[in-house]
Amino acid sequence: MQKVKIIFRLRAALALLATGLAAHLAAQGGYFQQETGYTIHVRLDDTSHVLHGHLALEYTNNAPHALDTLWLHLWPNAYSSRQTAFAKQARAIGSLDFQFAPKSQLGGIDSLSFAQDGNATPWRPHPEHPDIAFILLPSPILPGASTTITTPFRVKLPKVFSRLGHTGQSYQITQWHPKPAVYDASGWHPMPYLDMGEFYSEFGTYTVHITLADRYTVAATGTLQTLEEQERLQALSQNQTVGHSGRLKTLTYTADRVHDFAWFADARYQVRQDTVQLPNGDSVQTWAFFLDGSSSYWAKAVPFLKRALRFYSQQVGSYPYPQATVVETEAGAGGGMEYPMITNISGAFDEQSLDILIAHEVGHNWFYGILGSNERDHAWMDEGLNSYYEQRYARTYYPGQNTLLPEVIMRRTPIQERELGYLFQARRHLEQAPATPSGALSPANYFVGAYEKPALALHHLQGYLGREKMDSLMQSYFEGWSFRHPQPQNFKQHLEAGSKENLDWLFDGLIGSAQPLDYAIRKVERRGRSVKVTVRNRGGIAAPIPIALMQGDTVLSQEWASGFSGQRTFRLRGKAADAIVIDPERLTPDLRRYNNRRQLEGLSLPKLHFLAGLNSDESANLFLSPAGGWNAHDGWMAGLLAYNSAVPERPFEFQLAPAWGFNSRQLAGLGHLGYHFYPNALQRLSVGLRARQFSYRNGGAAAPTLSYRRWQPYLTADFKPNFSATARCQLELSTLWLDREAFSFADPASPSLDRDPARLQQARFTFEQYRRFNPYSWTFLLEHQGFEDAFGESQRYVKATAMIDWDFHYAPRAAVHLRLYGGYFLYSTFREAGFTSPFALNLISQGHNDYRYEGLFLDRQAAGTFAANQLLTHEGGFKTPIGPGFPLGRSNNWVAALNFSIDLPPDALLGIPIKPYLDLGYFDNAMPTGQSDTFADQFVWNGGFLLSVADEALAIYLPVISSANLGDRLAERGSFLQRIGFQVNFQKLNPWRIRDRITY
Ligand SMILES: [Zn+2]
Repeated sequence: MQKVKIIFRLRAALALLATGLAAHLAAQGGYFQQETGYTIHVRLDDTSHVLHGHLALEYTNNAPHALDTLWLHLWPNAYSSRQTAFAKQARAIGSLDFQFAPKSQLGGIDSLSFAQDGNATPWRPHPEHPDIAFILLPSPILPGASTTITTPFRVKLPKVFSRLGHTGQSYQITQWHPKPAVYDASGWHPMPYLDMGEFYSEFGTYTVHITLADRYTVAATGTLQTLEEQERLQALSQNQTVGHSGRLKTLTYTADRVHDFAWFADARYQVRQDTVQLPNGDSVQTWAFFLDGSSSYWAKAVPFLKRALRFYSQQVGSYPYPQATVVETEAGAGGGMEYPMITNISGAFDEQSLDILIAHEVGHNWFYGILGSNERDHAWMDEGLNSYYEQRYARTYYPGQNTLLPEVIMRRTPIQERELGYLFQARRHLEQAPATPSGALSPANYFVGAYEKPALALHHLQGYLGREKMDSLMQSYFEGWSFRHPQPQNFKQHLEAGSKENLDWLFDGLIGSAQPLDYAIRKVERRGRSVKVTVRNRGGIAAPIPIALMQGDTVLSQEWASGFSGQRTFRLRGKAADAIVIDPERLTPDLRRYNNRRQLEGLSLPKLHFLAGLNSDESANLFLSPAGGWNAHDGWMAGLLAYNSAVPERPFEFQLAPAWGFNSRQLAGLGHLGYHFYPNALQRLSVGLRARQFSYRNGGAAAPTLSYRRWQPYLTADFKPNFSATARCQLELSTLWLDREAFSFADPASPSLDRDPARLQQARFTFEQYRRFNPYSWTFLLEHQGFEDAFGESQRYVKATAMIDWDFHYAPRAAVHLRLYGGYFLYSTFREAGFTSPFALNLISQGHNDYRYEGLFLDRQAAGTFAANQLLTHEGGFKTPIGPGFPLGRSNNWVAALNFSIDLPPDALLGIPIKPYLDLGYFDNAMPTGQSDTFADQFVWNGGFLLSVADEALAIYLPVISSANLGDRLAERGSFLQRIGFQVNFQKLNPWRIRDRITY
């Protein structure tokens, strides 16, 4: 026995090692493919939501060598703990339901007992992934031989968090039984289950016997063999009521040449049934199962399904299975999920979206269903190819329409819905190569890399080769690789051989890299009837491009140029042309189209947009909208917001919001302009200028209105993010010029208006991890100011501050917020000044001590109004407005603070977003003893409740408790209203800041 154990351990270790090595081994031998045949008996217990099953798997080894190990997927175990690959990915991409699910909602597979041809077989789980296991076969499977593996199994169904599970007594049974990983010429491909990242499975046959209560209606992969149930479904499809006895029934399904089997059970399903004749004459049964009371558009599910089957059969190759089913599920993986012969849809919101979703999911019968690529490693091979055909479907049946995005966003832009995600990511320099394995892509880049970019690349190829050639190549690819495992190189070889073209630009360039495709017009010369144009490749991909002569919106002539690097000159003929344009029909994924056009006659004016929308990426843009505001000094302000870029990002961007202050009778407002560079080593390098001018008052409401101007030139480096995270890392260097009006008391008899300039330098380093689960950030700031004071003395300080923010989630939408702040003067001529310097550190930040003029205050200085109770979460972050006149909480030396707030559970207090808060702080006032400003107690605290509107974009603070020193100040303020503080976080409402933080 002992010897057997040692050998088992040794083989287990070797099996793991071999799997690790397999990925590195090139495919030495020729192509081979394994075969599987499943016979499964399964019973659904709908009280405890458990499947009791028995699996018999006939496995045929077609490899040229014997196999002594069989790798298996036990994917229900993805839901067994919060440490699985699925759980970790869900946390990282911010879907927190699984993280906080009670244990009763988790799932898993157990009761396994494997045998090979009747002999018990040891097996082991993968050391890291409980949803992967391997069997050490007592007798190796010889080349060409078959073996039968059997095991009982029990699946505890989770609540639906991803694809498998139940919602009450509605069942989605997918990725549910033990199943071998693919073994191909490059070795084993075991993979943990992921929500974002799909599958790779062997083709084979299925015979599945499902036993469940007879009130259920089942939709499944395969052909239903049970006569009584066929009759029952017919009756349901004719809206007849069918009775049930409360007894169990057993339904048998068979399927051939499939690599998966999914089934769905619900007692409420309505059924529709029809048949469709394919172009080759084959007839296919079509089924729709949807929930009672579903929106009326589900009645059209069968016609949509029929249309999609005919479309794909015509374009790609004939649908080979006897039936096709669409089933509505309550929750699912982002709108829809595909399995052989069956598709589940949960995200449709109108007739058109249902049509497009059905077309897409049905299309997966071709891309991955029949062409069984490795979806996990090469997601683009199924999603991308399928999206390309889905877009052709949409163009055929909804020509000229956007199918998902509202018209109001798309109306003034030539950008198409199908390229928006790509342009958004790539223009921010945040794209990843579509060839990246799914697990290493960020959610946004999974969408772009798996779906959008490869579809654009194929559209590009179609433009270049012509539709007919493209179709014949794709049809022969389908024919040659049906029911097989094509790899990217097989697809490439097929297209290259058929087109006699080198397609490196497509496979290494557009798919294999995140390099931009960008051709630009450099120079244009008109010579009689012809136009000489010099085009420069400013991107990293030498792809073919079309160059056209245009008259208005009409293409007069268009020629394809083969790909090149550097620059090249072309001669085009066309007398009446008024412009020359690279790719006017948007056939290629050119990243920067604003350099694609040169006007031969007339001017190219910026495109005007009113209010908001997407940029036109073919010209300059000018967005205009009315703007207004109010502050206590300028009064009501009326003005204009003008900017040149929203989405996608442009290298040069400006935003200007000038306004007229009716009270100050002055120009007020703010503006920003910046230029972005995208060096390879960084995400982005920006230089720019922020400017602002408003009025303020130095003193009470009776003091005269003065104005300030603020200029801040800056240099910002955004470092490349780690794509598995949603992190942002930024260094900013800036200089702040302040120019304030102030009164000069040089002649005390008649104070005169003077200017009070200041200049200070800042270096700020920020790291933000702004994922949804436990986000955190830290900021370090160094600030220097040196100047000559009114007495001719040279003054100087260097201030260092550090801030750390943490959120700790205790529920999906509720967290404890913790903030830690420390500030210290590394150097200061004010340290022992005997008065609190204007540049002192603060526990409480308000308008009167905002010497950097950083906040936008409704009432910057006037004491006594409610508007003056505005706070900034700055420095110490205290939430008690004590107003000017008290140096409490201010220091020429150092301060430290700790701020807490807690989200109440989302359903508490009728969902009103009230949070308790508590601030603790210490300030070292370092005054020589006996000075009037010396505080005996330098420890300060306060607490209360904050009311948060729009995630604290507006926050109102109701004080309840505080330390005595702060309490005394509050008591002096009088009414409770005067003790209430508030904050308006304008930064949180800044659309350009929001754009930068959209999760990648
Ligand atoms: Zn898809």
